[in-house]
Amino acid sequence: MSILEKLPQAIEAKVQGKPLFTAMADVDEKGQSGERWLVVTENAVTVYQTDGESLTKLGVEEITECRVVSAIGGGTVIADTMKGPVALVRYTSSFAGKFGFASKLIKALSGKEDIPAASVKDLPRRCTQCGTPLLEGTQICSICTDKGKVAARLLSYAKPYRVQMTAAAVMMILATLMELVPPYLTKVIVDDVLQPKNIGLALLWFVLGLAGARVMLSLMQTLRGYVGVWVGGKLMGDIRKDIYSSLMRLSLGFFDRRQTSQFIGRVNSDAEAMRQFLTDGVMWISGQVLMLAAVITMMVSLDWKLAIYALLPTPLIVFTSMIIWPTIRSRWYRHWRAINRLNMLVGDALQGIRVVKAFGQEPTEMSRYGDANKELVVQNIRADGMWQGVFPLFALISTSGAILVWYFGGWMVLRDQISLGTLMAFSAYLGMLFGPLQWFSQALNWTSRAMAAADRVFEIMDTPSDVPDDLEPVSMDWVEGRVVLNQVSYGYEAHHPVLKNIDLNVAPGEMIGLVGHSGAGKSTLINMICRFYDPNQGTITIDGVPLKKIKQEDLRKKIGVVLQETFLFDGTITENIAYSKPDATPEEIMRAAKIANAHDFIVRLPDGYDTKVGERGHRLSGGEKQRIAIARAIVHDPRILILDEATASVDTDTERQIQEAISRLVKGRTTFAIAHRLSTLRNADRLVVLDKGQIVEIGTHEQLLDKQGAYFKLVEAQRELSKIKGVQS
Ligand code: ADP
Repeated sequence: MSILEKLPQAIEAKVQGKPLFTAMADVDEKGQSGERWLVVTENAVTVYQTDGESLTKLGVEEITECRVVSAIGGGTVIADTMKGPVALVRYTSSFAGKFGFASKLIKALSGKEDIPAASVKDLPRRCTQCGTPLLEGTQICSICTDKGKVAARLLSYAKPYRVQMTAAAVMMILATLMELVPPYLTKVIVDDVLQPKNIGLALLWFVLGLAGARVMLSLMQTLRGYVGVWVGGKLMGDIRKDIYSSLMRLSLGFFDRRQTSQFIGRVNSDAEAMRQFLTDGVMWISGQVLMLAAVITMMVSLDWKLAIYALLPTPLIVFTSMIIWPTIRSRWYRHWRAINRLNMLVGDALQGIRVVKAFGQEPTEMSRYGDANKELVVQNIRADGMWQGVFPLFALISTSGAILVWYFGGWMVLRDQISLGTLMAFSAYLGMLFGPLQWFSQALNWTSRAMAAADRVFEIMDTPSDVPDDLEPVSMDWVEGRVVLNQVSYGYEAHHPVLKNIDLNVAPGEMIGLVGHSGAGKSTLINMICRFYDPNQGTITIDGVPLKKIKQEDLRKKIGVVLQETFLFDGTITENIAYSKPDATPEEIMRAAKIANAHDFIVRLPDGYDTKVGERGHRLSGGEKQRIAIARAIVHDPRILILDEATASVDTDTERQIQEAISRLVKGRTTFAIAHRLSTLRNADRLVVLDKGQIVEIGTHEQLLDKQGAYFKLVEAQRELSKIKGVQS
């Protein structure tokens, strides 16, 4: 796979030779946001401005090395030459994948090595077919997908409600027919009733007929509206549920590569866009088509010659729509992209509001928002503005039909070829004929919005889990707890291994302490054991069964985690403790809380075990939250236990209580514990020291101290640190 983003024409004209890599960077030489294009061919590496002017050009033979220098929020591709380093392009972090690949490619070319293939993670953020930037977190370009297939799949959501939808359609047909009645009655009134000889009740009857038709029309519309709302509500519910369950099914790896805040809006707004299309959209579109057919039939039956005059401008409208449709669609797409970006910015800033405030970065955030907002304004004007230009044109074309009818129809009346009533009915039908035009914009809006939403939703639904269940998974009701890692290697990014050839054999009930500098790979190792990710190489087994083979549901039951950041859900303490076992009895919960040293503080809370915690409830301290998490793990009763820095940042007394709770919890369970404070891991049966993704030492606390190696150094360093802290405090 190679990365070839569609170049602007001005650049394409300048490129010599077959491009191996083309991609846009979003930061200019001054560090401001701006487009630059990196083009790599077999012989040269060139950086262009969008207007085609080349800023840097290096022959591959001049380059000795190529590397990426990462900085906060982005990076730079640097080529080293005989004359010194040359910064090629700068970019923000969302582009890191493709330029990481570019640097590997340039390096390979300069060293005459084989050209590497790009992996999915390096893929560009632009559609390779049309060049439109892709929405963050998606590889699908809404402009290039097969709309027919998407629409068919979208319509399948309406299937369970076909009876109600049919009923609504019948009411709509009746309403359409009712609408056809008044103009016809008008014709009869003008031609036949309003005659001197007819003075009597005839006029009253006809006017009552008119009124009756109107009442029936309103009734049908009301009923149809109600059914529409009912089906719409149900449909929304179904779609939302499907999106949410797809999100829950996806692996952590999926969320790593995306900003989670975007999904919050997506579940609701995309479902709404799809619903709107399915109920209002489909109904209105078919309603208008029906109306069109009925009106044309009426006009032809009244007078076919006049009907031809009236319909003369129609082909022009169809032809113009076909020409402008793609442009309008792409403009709408850009518009929604801008909305999405703005939403993401808000989500991010609000999630990190504490950091924003603490660093006084409100102005920066506002200016970031301001830029995105400006972009949205521009896209909004472009999308809406185009329609504003097109609509009067359509109106003009369509009214020309009316003008023709008045002219030729008028002549026909004067020549007594048709009656005055016919002309009047005709002009009323004409109004209805071009009424659907008004809906054209709305239908266009609904359709494009729904298609874009459906693309995104179906992409989520179709994304296979990175950690799929085996086709014939092994059920494990009872686990002894032997965990074996055999030559395990893993990297979140394919070109950057984080764990290298890990071998570890852990006996049932053994407690392993994982130590090492920050970034050494401790959490990653634990992620592997939990099977949040699958290793790139090597195998992990539990009781001799490969992790990949074990039914995930069973695996989750056998593994319990107490994480560094305890997350409490919005609910009572009881519900939070019983999270993994909703049917736990109150006695069980209380027993767990006692073992976790949490009972005492819980009963002191205003509502005891029924106190609301989490987002909207009582605030618990870090130490209290951790003890709730320990109680949660005790209720879960796993055979394999993961403790991730469970005793960070608490006072000594709380720490003692937590330690006590933990020592009760770990008894008899295979345990993997990470702790910053090495002293807390003294009870571990063995300590595994990790450094840069490799195991450098294994042994007990005493053995490793005697060895005076990596662990010894870590302990020394920490002792120094606490001395400094002691002096300071
Ligand atoms: P530790 O727990 O020892 O501090 P980690 O296992 O968290 O170390 O991280 C090891 C390396 O993996 C670090 O370089 C970190 O930047 C990287 N890393 C951790 N999580 C992710 C992730 N979700 N995506 C990409 N890189 C990650």
